[in-house]
Amino acid sequence: SKNVYFFGNGRADGTAEMRNLLGGKGANLAEMTNLGIPVPAGFTITTEVCTAYYQNNRQWPAGLEEEIRENMKKVEAAMGKGFGDVNNPLLVSVRSGARVSMPGMMDTILNLGLNDETVQGLIKSSGNERFAWDSYRRFIQMYSNVVLGADHSKFEAIIEEKKKERGVTLDNELTAEDLKDLVAQYKAWIKANLNREFPTDPWEQLRGAINAVFLSWMNPRAITYRKLHKIPEEWGTAVNVQAMVFGNMGDNSATGVAFTRNPSTGENVFYGEFLINAQGEDVVAGIRTPQEISLAASQQWAKENGISEEERKAKYPSLEEYMPECYQQLLELRKKLEGHYKDMQDIEFTIENRKLYMLQTRNGKRTGQAAIKIAVDMVEEGLIDKKTALLRVEPEQLDQLLHPMIDPKAKVTIVGKGLPASPGAAVGQVVFSAEDAERWHEQGHKVILVRTETSPEDISGMHVAQGILTARGGMTSHAAVVARGMGKCCVAGCGEAVVDEANKKVTINGHVFKEGDWMTLNGSTGDVILGQAPLVEPEIAGSFQTLMTWADEVRTLQVRTNADTPHDAKVARDFGAQGIGLCRTEHMFFGPEPERIKAVREMILAEDGEARKKALSKILPYQKADFIAIFETMKDLPVTIRLLDPPLHEFLPHDRKGQEEMAKEMGIPVEKVIEKVNALSEFNPMLGFRGCRLGIIYPEIFATQVQAIFEAACALAKKGQKVVPEVMIPLVGTTGELQKIREYSVKVAEEVMAREGVKLEYLIGTMIELPRAALIADQIAEYADFFSFGTNDMTQMTFGYSRDDAGRFLPTYVEQKILKDDVFQKLDQEGVGQLLEIGLTKGRATRPNLKVGICGEHGGDPSSIEFCHKIGMDYVSCSPYRVPIARLAAAQAEL
Ligand code: PEP
Ligand code: MG
Repeated sequence: SKNVYFFGNGRADGTAEMRNLLGGKGANLAEMTNLGIPVPAGFTITTEVCTAYYQNNRQWPAGLEEEIRENMKKVEAAMGKGFGDVNNPLLVSVRSGARVSMPGMMDTILNLGLNDETVQGLIKSSGNERFAWDSYRRFIQMYSNVVLGADHSKFEAIIEEKKKERGVTLDNELTAEDLKDLVAQYKAWIKANLNREFPTDPWEQLRGAINAVFLSWMNPRAITYRKLHKIPEEWGTAVNVQAMVFGNMGDNSATGVAFTRNPSTGENVFYGEFLINAQGEDVVAGIRTPQEISLAASQQWAKENGISEEERKAKYPSLEEYMPECYQQLLELRKKLEGHYKDMQDIEFTIENRKLYMLQTRNGKRTGQAAIKIAVDMVEEGLIDKKTALLRVEPEQLDQLLHPMIDPKAKVTIVGKGLPASPGAAVGQVVFSAEDAERWHEQGHKVILVRTETSPEDISGMHVAQGILTARGGMTSHAAVVARGMGKCCVAGCGEAVVDEANKKVTINGHVFKEGDWMTLNGSTGDVILGQAPLVEPEIAGSFQTLMTWADEVRTLQVRTNADTPHDAKVARDFGAQGIGLCRTEHMFFGPEPERIKAVREMILAEDGEARKKALSKILPYQKADFIAIFETMKDLPVTIRLLDPPLHEFLPHDRKGQEEMAKEMGIPVEKVIEKVNALSEFNPMLGFRGCRLGIIYPEIFATQVQAIFEAACALAKKGQKVVPEVMIPLVGTTGELQKIREYSVKVAEEVMAREGVKLEYLIGTMIELPRAALIADQIAEYADFFSFGTNDMTQMTFGYSRDDAGRFLPTYVEQKILKDDVFQKLDQEGVGQLLEIGLTKGRATRPNLKVGICGEHGGDPSSIEFCHKIGMDYVSCSPYRVPIARLAAAQAEL
């Protein structure tokens, strides 16, 4: 069978489809060659040869040598040079290339074919003595390291010695004479230390290099990399032998990189840089200022840097001016490559004596904004269809367009890192309590609220803050969930932060921030930054809207939002939410009027049912007003309202001052308040007296909420608005709980409607967030009009990880790959997912048209959304700022 595949002169034996046989690089070089793109000629030794090499006791298969020689002849013919030719030598590079790229795992050898005779030929053909000797000494160094196993640093030491002797500091200050001497010294070192001569026969050099590439497949780095990425050992690596071209042969040579469109904005302009008389890595290394490829970009660059037109032309001309033929050729290639690959390309090229060669092309990395614009533009240009466009944009990339962000060009000092809990950026002055946040805010300051952890009491402070930093708490901690709901930047669980709330200061890795000091948070990366970093407003381009419309055309999964306020509801609606999937009523208890929380506390502290009812009657109008506002905002869209969930303890004042205030307000001794606070405190509040358990022990609490919901709905119905309230009962684990609460809820609802003279359609459903509830979902469905999976609690209860404390070990679990991801962010499909599937299947067995959704944080995560779609849910519900992400993810789940 064929072992070697040639490419060159517009004809290649291979194609892009032969990735498995030729490796990624080889297949790509073949494809470009077939497209008529100028690629330096070469050949690829297949991955099968590598496998055979290992099976055959590290021997080449019979006939390989002959095949290589035949192909080398073709390369010689294509390049007009001879391998080992002392007058006009062909030099080659030898590189590995597996099916999938394994960056930096295996080695590369350049300039192979040089010896004392051919270097003279190179001097002749290039007319550049220094270049030739420098290539030679680089070759010896690289080859000795990769093939002969010599330590790189030994050669570096020899160079250093030489530089000292010559009184220079930089490599490029060494003359041709110096480099020639280095070659002699290198060879002497090899003889003395490796007990052998450096191989002078180009064929011997080539055999050694090919074997070294095969052997590098089994080096410890590559083995580890394969294990980590689950790459089978049998795949083997291909070997690419390719003619060298030189961008460093003088002023008629250059090298560059380019994107076929702007990777940052997506604008359809050619975007790239080049360096005259340089080699590939010089552009990336940033030693010299690269020049712009196009004239317009070059002029723009000069303007921005205060460089005059004369100076620009003389010192930094564009490629368009400097080598117009090559520039024209590149423009044509740009069109050709995009037309063929149908995506934005990232290319590398080299110009040797005004002849252009392409060395690489691949799909280019891009920002979210660019991804959207390129995808939409390419549909309009007829390059791709809508389906392809939808799959081209990562849902998570949309996030960058939905929040202000730190200017990526700004230099910032990062002092610490936490979890990227809620994306975006925030700049503000540090404060340490919700009260201070409000006070500073009223005085016109921008603040960052820093807390050890947040509680529902902090909500108003969080609301006015630019961003929130907590020392403790995971991705579903209170701070994180609330901040995401508000679309507010939050860095949670920054373990390096030591918060001293009493003395109003926080210390992060030795940096002390006192009250009023400036801090910047990057909620997209978790970075905590010193001072005020510059922000840029996200641009929502027209193509964003277009892409969203296409997403809506294909998806069947509905997208709702988790919103507790009319403001959040409005944001979500504007982002395309199709209803509210979770309205957490407890957040309304901390509304703007202080009377609210007072009434709630009164209700909790009440001695008996009567007193409790009296307190509840104070809460009722607030709740009713809230529900009216939310129903009005959502208009005809469905709204699911969840009855009270958190333990009562969370609503009580925990400091002496608050307790005294409360006692005075209610005319009871402060001891009574303290006693109640203590009585309600629990070891495991998350597993304690919360959710429907409250509704069983204190039915009047839930009943009042139901009354408020229906009074609100009736009021709007009378005004002619269509409202279909959905009442949701949390944390159900037994049918009895749901049955009882449903019974009295229906009674209250019917009473209100009878009194108001309005007949409403309504639903009473439940959250499925306990494993037991999922397992008996067929029974539960008898009393539920809908299910909504609360996967925050379901994850907590299934793993037995406290959602508020898992930050201590979860990051390590992920690092050590005990868990693939943070299970509070990405649904654990294997375990928790099974429970969802069981719950859904059993629920629908009882009620075939049972409406099923998810409202845990996972409802905004693309891979979890795909899973929800797969098992047949009707909708996902997520924070307002994730709605566009969910719309795209839901569309992708369909494709
Ligand atoms: C859940 O548990 O997933 C849920 C949505 O409810 P909460 O986060 O309010 O407990
Ligand atoms: Mg829950």
